[in-house]
Amino acid sequence: MKKSLLLAILPVLALGVFAASEKKLSERDLVLANMPKIEAPKKKHQILCFSKPYGFRHGSIEIGETMLKVMGEKTGLFEVTVSEDLANFEPGNIKKFDAICFNNNTHIQKGFKDEALRESLISYVKNGGGVFAIHSATDGGWPEYVDMIGGNFNGHPWGAGGTWDIANEDPKHPIVKGVHEGKGFKLKDELYQYKDFDRSKQRVLMALDMKSEVNGKKKGNRKDNDYALAWVKEYGKGRVFVSAFGHNKEVFYNPEILKMWVEGFRYILGETEVETASISKPDSKK
Ligand SMILES: [Zn+2]
Repeated sequence: MKKSLLLAILPVLALGVFAASEKKLSERDLVLANMPKIEAPKKKHQILCFSKPYGFRHGSIEIGETMLKVMGEKTGLFEVTVSEDLANFEPGNIKKFDAICFNNNTHIQKGFKDEALRESLISYVKNGGGVFAIHSATDGGWPEYVDMIGGNFNGHPWGAGGTWDIANEDPKHPIVKGVHEGKGFKLKDELYQYKDFDRSKQRVLMALDMKSEVNGKKKGNRKDNDYALAWVKEYGKGRVFVSAFGHNKEVFYNPEILKMWVEGFRYILGETEVETASISKPDSKK
């Protein structure tokens, strides 16, 4: 290559490398900038982040992993092991973790084909393990998994390109009281309707506001019109937090959603005690 040509393309090469690294850094930086600070945790917990989808693969899986790493580093709450290896769920291995984050898996039953592996996960949670389920981690599962999660994907009338009205149904609850100061808010994300959902088995924190005009333009298929989007529940001695939010990448650096997620982790890790008794559906608030 002629020296003059090399000199001419060097700045272009350098710019390309810079642009690529800047793009990669910027998502992490956005998560970092918007991650809330919390009081020092009692201990540093160990988390497994399991992101493998067996159906549709969400484009937000990677930023979900980034979000967990940043949350662990900034809050000191946990160290995260990111892995797609099902061997982590074997009885001798799963006990190394204080909680599992199911990060946008789909149709997880197709991975957990082995009955013993299913039993290992369920008994781990029943014996005190934590579960944090993001978005399509609620899409699929075998009966005990669905029972543990508390709902199963049944379509998403409210699509990823829309901006929807969310009701904070439990504005004094520690996990969501800080989210938009406990008030309702708008969020651009893909929102699910659930089957195998029983409000009496969990404490719903957030739901679609069905008095909202924009939400009401889409028809859900539940007779009770109850479209829960975030909840906590006890499962045996274990603790479960579920967030239907998490399709769009932007959700992973939304400061208000991060406030809820940090508190969700504090609960499932036993750093905080919160009410988990079911509450009936309040009137939707705007
Ligand atoms: Zn989705």
